Amino acid sequence: MSDRWDNFYLRMALESARMSKDPSTKVGCVLVGKNRSIIATGFNGFPAGVADTADRLHDRDKKLELVVHAEMNAVLMAARLGIATDGATCYVAATDDSQEIWGGPPCLRCAVECMQAGIREYVSWPTKPSLLTNWADSIAKAKAVIEEAGLVYRTVPFVSNWCTPDAELGCAAHQRNNNRCRTCPLDKNMMYRTR
Ligand SMILES: [Zn+2]
Repeated sequence: MSDRWDNFYLRMALESARMSKDPSTKVGCVLVGKNRSIIATGFNGFPAGVADTADRLHDRDKKLELVVHAEMNAVLMAARLGIATDGATCYVAATDDSQEIWGGPPCLRCAVECMQAGIREYVSWPTKPSLLTNWADSIAKAKAVIEEAGLVYRTVPFVSNWCTPDAELGCAAHQRNNNRCRTCPLDKNMMYRTR
């Protein structure tokens, strides 16, 4: 899959992530099948019918007990609809209330479960390490186990729809406008941030 298509699906995953009500970690997933067909999407959240109360969302232990991760929500949506996930590609993106893009490869639990759903490829943007301290170990183990099973684990460069991204300089319009571009939603931190 080209960077252009990869980024299309990753931007969709990012929009899914923004639907999450989790204040600290918002993850979105898009499962893609043959012929670029979108199988299902998901974001992290509680099961349908379980209330998103502040009490649950702000207590990490309570939240972790109840939350369904984005990748599993996508797999389970496909299960509910009776759509095969065998051979699919899993696109994952993550953010938080600040809107910074974290990258967002799968955690170990999602990886092993997606592997058993027949998902063969795992794609995300580069991880921003400082923002992933809680999950760094799980993400590293997920990568190792995916590769051990002979599946594909890819990190692709962030490509904007709006201007040519350059992590240091930004596009010409960014530079002319003191790193604020009037014609695109990205600023000089565009590698990880959209607005
Ligand atoms: Zn997960």
